[in-house]
Amino acid sequence: MNLPSYSCVLCPHNNEETLFHLLLECPFAQECWINISLFANLSDEPYTILNSFKTQLQVILRVNEDWKQPMLEWLEHTL
Ligand SMILES: [Zn+2]
Repeated sequence: MNLPSYSCVLCPHNNEETLFHLLLECPFAQECWINISLFANLSDEPYTILNSFKTQLQVILRVNEDWKQPMLEWLEHTL
């Protein structure tokens, strides 16, 4: 499917609307994480950030090591 634009409508600087952007990088997403007291270090890779959420939440997420690569690929794909 081709769309006329792949820019995030929530950002003023035409950031590409990747899953990584929408979930972690977008200022709107960051505001959401901050509002529930989660910090995302965007210099880390996505899997590390999600693991840090697990640590910050102190809950057990069912993230199998075998899922790491598919999760990274999923996060890096454009919608
Ligand atoms: Zn954005």
